[in-house]
Amino acid sequence: MTKVLNSPERFSDEAVDGLVSVYADYLEKTYGGVISTRSTRPGKVAVVIGGGSGHYPAFAGWVGPGLADGAVVGNIFASPSTQQIYAVAKAVDDGAGVFMSYGNYAGDVLNFNLAEEQLSEEGIRAISVPVTDDVSSASLDERDKRRGVAGDLVVFKIAGAAAERGNDLDGVVAAAQRANAATYSFGVAFAGCTLPGADEPLFTVPEGQMGVGLGVHGEPGVAEVPLEPSADLAKRLVDRLLQERPEGASGRVAVLLNGLGGSKYEELFVLWNDVRQLLEAAELEIVRPEVGELITSLDMAGVSLTVTWLDDELEQLWLAPADTPAFRRGAAPEGRAVHRAVTEAEQQEFGQASEQSQALARRLADGLEAVAALLHDKESELGDLDAIAGDGDHGRGMTKGCDAALAAAQAAVSAGAGLASTLSAAGIAWADKAGGTSGALWGNGLRQAATALDDESEPTTEQGLAAVQAALELVTTFGKAKRHDKTLLDALIPFVEALQESVVAGDAMPKAWPAAAEVATTEAEATADLSPKIGRSRVLAERSQGHPDPGAISLAMILTVAGEHLG
Ligand code: ADP
Ligand code: MG
Repeated sequence: MTKVLNSPERFSDEAVDGLVSVYADYLEKTYGGVISTRSTRPGKVAVVIGGGSGHYPAFAGWVGPGLADGAVVGNIFASPSTQQIYAVAKAVDDGAGVFMSYGNYAGDVLNFNLAEEQLSEEGIRAISVPVTDDVSSASLDERDKRRGVAGDLVVFKIAGAAAERGNDLDGVVAAAQRANAATYSFGVAFAGCTLPGADEPLFTVPEGQMGVGLGVHGEPGVAEVPLEPSADLAKRLVDRLLQERPEGASGRVAVLLNGLGGSKYEELFVLWNDVRQLLEAAELEIVRPEVGELITSLDMAGVSLTVTWLDDELEQLWLAPADTPAFRRGAAPEGRAVHRAVTEAEQQEFGQASEQSQALARRLADGLEAVAALLHDKESELGDLDAIAGDGDHGRGMTKGCDAALAAAQAAVSAGAGLASTLSAAGIAWADKAGGTSGALWGNGLRQAATALDDESEPTTEQGLAAVQAALELVTTFGKAKRHDKTLLDALIPFVEALQESVVAGDAMPKAWPAAAEVATTEAEATADLSPKIGRSRVLAERSQGHPDPGAISLAMILTVAGEHLG
């Protein structure tokens, strides 16, 4: 249970403030996370790591020379937004490109990929490598589906050292990929964790038992077994990891024994004795082990063991100096700072706009106001629908996202922005504040739609259609869902098809849009017959039978209201 807090909403942010204040010689706060005050070499590839908070020292504790230049800090157990990742990357880029890495979770994959795209649109080369070390989350054949846990540290450390010694972006990516391929973790949980402000833990482990293979956010484990002596636990962990010893691996291994937040250091040291003996008995040579809290999960009690099969190069990079608040090794690399922190307000700059486009931007803001009112009205209905097979946050997420989009649009209008800039600002704010998969897709979709418009003239019917098609293209590219997977695409694809047909037939938007919105509504309701193939509700697919997809329903509602504002 988290006992020290002011408010759950402010918990992550206040924790970052405290951290930055303690380590003022290392860290500076920037919009989206923290950056190093001491970049070491001009022209170095920038290294950005990140993920949700609740995992300290991952990720903000690993920012400093030899490791990361910046860390993106999301909410508790939630992916950072696209905009946060983009902003931190931009703050640390020094012209040599940005290497990014994070644990392999759907929300993080989506947002890091979107940020990569957004950076490349501005000519900044960014490549991300998700860490996939958790052996209990998927089989070896499906290595790329595995989650990232404590192995994050090894991959980040090796990538950071590669950047530090002067590798170019492709070289850093290659080192990180090799480190990831060589890294395997396995863990057990003794007790669940409780989100700040919550009364109940996210999951529980029965008294006297332990959950084997549990994820760092309380994802279900492989099995529950009785607690056992340290020597037996060590054997369980070591045996499982040695099963996946890669062919031709040298006998040299980097080893992490990680405490998840509620297990004592002394317990870890006791377990370490047993782990060490077993590894030595297997004729492995342990290279610079780390034992302690590396990636935690709030107050979850549990431990995980990580093994990285080293070759000469990986070993050299693993041993290279680093100096961060939570990870130090050898003499710190020295240098000058090239990073530049930014505030949220500095993110917004608008170009010139015609009066006509400014007027359209005002109408867009009015339309968003109507959509926000609709979403507030339907918030609990959408939440209930999402609770059937998902996590119940869809109404809240959509409302939060739209409120933020409305505020950003109004600010843009006041600053004299045109239609495209206002829509883009609204989309960015939506993605930034909504949270969840739908928030990232909605916000980035709106931002992408804006690329088909401009700040000069009234959009033609074709431009309007192109905007909607651009949004659809982004949602399919990054969401990776297909039609009939039971997502918002099951309303969006028929909508775009119907709109296109009417436009080709010569209809103007005010006629074509409402007719297409009706198609979307029918198709959204028809998702009740489908079974979810992607996203959170896939796990509880049977429960969703007979109920429509919340994302499709909210999309159809919004399209209908938007149609009323086109005339
Ligand atoms: P989360 O699933 O992260 O809790 P929300 O509850 O806000 O996010 O949104 C759930 C909705 O998001 C689903 O009903 C579905 O329509 C949509 N969705 C989820 N994953 C995808 C995806 N990969 N592509 C398109 N839409 C998706
Ligand atoms: Mg949800």
